[in-house]
Amino acid sequence: MALVGNKRCKEAAVAIQLWLGVVFAAPLGEAGAELSVADFKFDGPLGSDGAVIEKIGTNHFKMTLGHAPGHPTWANNCQFQIVRNAKGNSLTLDVVFLGGNEFRFNEYFHSWSYDGKNWTPIHWERDSKDSKEGDTLKFPVFEQDTVYCGLQVPMSYEDLVEMVGVWEKNPNVKVYIIGRSVGKRNIYRLEVTDPKSPVPEEKRWVHYFTNQHPGEHNAQWRMVGMLEWLLSDEGADLRRRSICHFLIMTSPDAPSHGWYRTNSEGSDMNRAYRPAGSNRQEQTHEPYLCQVDFEKIMASKAPATSCWSFHTWGGVVDPIFTSGPEIGKIIGPASEFAQILERNDPNDLVKPLSYRKEAKYGSTSWTDGPHMQFGITTILCEGAAVIYTKEKNMESGGVLIKSLAEYWKGTKP
Ligand SMILES: [Zn+2]
Repeated sequence: MALVGNKRCKEAAVAIQLWLGVVFAAPLGEAGAELSVADFKFDGPLGSDGAVIEKIGTNHFKMTLGHAPGHPTWANNCQFQIVRNAKGNSLTLDVVFLGGNEFRFNEYFHSWSYDGKNWTPIHWERDSKDSKEGDTLKFPVFEQDTVYCGLQVPMSYEDLVEMVGVWEKNPNVKVYIIGRSVGKRNIYRLEVTDPKSPVPEEKRWVHYFTNQHPGEHNAQWRMVGMLEWLLSDEGADLRRRSICHFLIMTSPDAPSHGWYRTNSEGSDMNRAYRPAGSNRQEQTHEPYLCQVDFEKIMASKAPATSCWSFHTWGGVVDPIFTSGPEIGKIIGPASEFAQILERNDPNDLVKPLSYRKEAKYGSTSWTDGPHMQFGITTILCEGAAVIYTKEKNMESGGVLIKSLAEYWKGTKP
């Protein structure tokens, strides 16, 4: 009897599928049919909260962007997925944001992909300075049905989870989940050091690498490049005499919502540090968790020697150095680091090192803040808006960490 029942269920399912096929699949999936509004999705791993799309011609659409939580003048990132029917169609996408020009959605290149892994850069047509007037992305004729598009070289939270799954199998990596975001995603910190090193923990140099603005994906790939270099054969010596911490996504809810600078509570993630100390009442959720964790490291027997805050702005990678107590005393002056960087950068991916004595973004940034609170060396690592591929961004990270290894030589005294 059960078998008969199952068979009937299957038959019924097939009948329903056929019926759905007739009613829905034909207009959407037919080869050669032009793209329609229903083919676009804005709530995938690379999303854009509040985006509205309308058709204005054959394979020509207008996308009106929504805004960041609590910031009606900050555009969400232009990100979307074409879930079907792209093959054989091109796409002209006019994008506007009606809230203002404070952080322009078209300031950086975007990328598109068939699989969300291999990305092709795409550039804005006009570089318009007026978000209301908008700008346009012109995509070529697609060769596959599914297409992803996101900011810079995108990195979704799901991409990070997948990479963490690989890294955690490496005996030199310890994965800490320092807490969960408001959206219940893990905030990961990866600690990389050689567990078999004869150097006692308290003698190892400690470097802390973190990204604040969640839309600055090039900065995140730069960090991935550093981590990969550190896990390679070349990184063996540094692994023995240092501990490196990587916090690649401090606002892991952001990629799926398209928030460029914030978390769900609207905090600008690089204006959310508290040099007087972490405080549950004074800070929003993720900045508080990150600072608590950093303070734990600072109170341990292996406190951070340097704190690096990774971002993206114009030009190539642009590191800005603020000296802590070891600079020019235990190791060479910062100018020595500048020379090492220059030597290790044959493809000119990194600008000459610049130095900063005065705070620029103030005590609530993740460079000035930790420097004020703990007096340590901080590096604001900006730039890379003209580095258009994942590989080159990762290569730039390799240049940085290779140079760091040479500069912070030996062990702590
Ligand atoms: Zn930034």
